[in-house]
Amino acid sequence: MSSKYNADEKGFYGEFGGAFIPEMLYPNVEELRLKYLEISEEKSFKEEFQSLLREYVGRPTPLYFAKRLSQKHNTKIYLKREDLCHTGAHKINNTIGQILVAKRLGKHRIIAETGAGQHGVATATVCALMGLKCIVYMGEIDIERQAPNVARMKMLGAEVRPATSGSKTLKDATNEAIRDWINNPEDTFYIIGSVVGPHPYPDMVARFQSVISEEIKLQLEEIENRKNPDYVIACVGGGSNAAGAFYHFLDDENVNLIAVEAAGKGVNSGESAATSLLGKTGVIHGSKTLLMQTNDGQITEPYSISAGLDYPGIGPMHANLFQTKRAEFLSITDDEAMEAGLELAKLEGIIPAIESAHAFAVLNHKTFNPDDIVIVNLSGRGDKDLTTYINYFKI
Ligand SMILES: *Cc1c(COP(=O)(O)O)cnc(C)c1O
Repeated sequence: MSSKYNADEKGFYGEFGGAFIPEMLYPNVEELRLKYLEISEEKSFKEEFQSLLREYVGRPTPLYFAKRLSQKHNTKIYLKREDLCHTGAHKINNTIGQILVAKRLGKHRIIAETGAGQHGVATATVCALMGLKCIVYMGEIDIERQAPNVARMKMLGAEVRPATSGSKTLKDATNEAIRDWINNPEDTFYIIGSVVGPHPYPDMVARFQSVISEEIKLQLEEIENRKNPDYVIACVGGGSNAAGAFYHFLDDENVNLIAVEAAGKGVNSGESAATSLLGKTGVIHGSKTLLMQTNDGQITEPYSISAGLDYPGIGPMHANLFQTKRAEFLSITDDEAMEAGLELAKLEGIIPAIESAHAFAVLNHKTFNPDDIVIVNLSGRGDKDLTTYINYFKI
């Protein structure tokens, strides 16, 4: 689908995006840029992608009418159940797509970066599925904090390499992955976990995740006899689940798009990840975008209770949706998200990932009409967050 909100040929979304990379990385990124569209539009690629989404991931995911939640907010709320995907979140849609591209480029060694470990697990999963070697870079501190995901990756056959420089978190893991890719240009493919990084990654990842809004359209038509909802609400870390949920609605300006960022302990507390509100234009991971930084351009450490939203930038597509006001950006504190997560558990019997709980908290900030159709993208399940819920609510 061509849309003025999608990337142009150079990978720009308005003034954001592009490929700002060291020269040493140019051949790798250029190879991908020249081939990703052709590959992903091949008939055999589409067939393999769709059959894996169906039989391995479990798609289409349900569009579930949340009756009790709807009653509470006096409107019609549907949940897009990405939490029911294999491995528990939307991330697998993207890693399946990218590993199929890697195979068609003849690559047999896969690298990835991970923060909380969710993207690492999704990558290790598809590498096991395809029998490819998998190396996941992860900050030393994150390795300590996210032991269960490290164990999962190891069980799936991946090697987890600690990043020991800087703050020993996601951005340092990303630097290590980029260094590895520079040193192994021939046989290695870098699977990036969100709509971030140099062109063509943001566009490629958005296309793989766009299956979410493609399904929403078909499902709404079947259930409600209309293709478009009034609102689509999704949380934004880097922005991939939101990009997927928004994708096929970008040009329908009647559909209100709401992107939800993590305000952490409060937007002005110095401990948040509310990038659109606090960010300024800068370059991170090869892309020009909005970025939390100091006056002299040093990246500010982000904070959120949910590890998946704890990212100092947003993808260039979202920076442009913010700047053009096509999407409304709201931010939700840790406390609001935790309460919304507990409420969904009690009202609907669904424990959401804390990332997704941020999207649900927005329901308390907006007033909807009784006949509005509101879709909340339930990006992942809360199993991984049980310890955080337990400690927070002293359960
Ligand atoms: C990783 C993650 C996110 C944030 O990533 P996006 O690229 O912004 O979608 C949101 N929800 C869940 C469940 C995640 O695992």
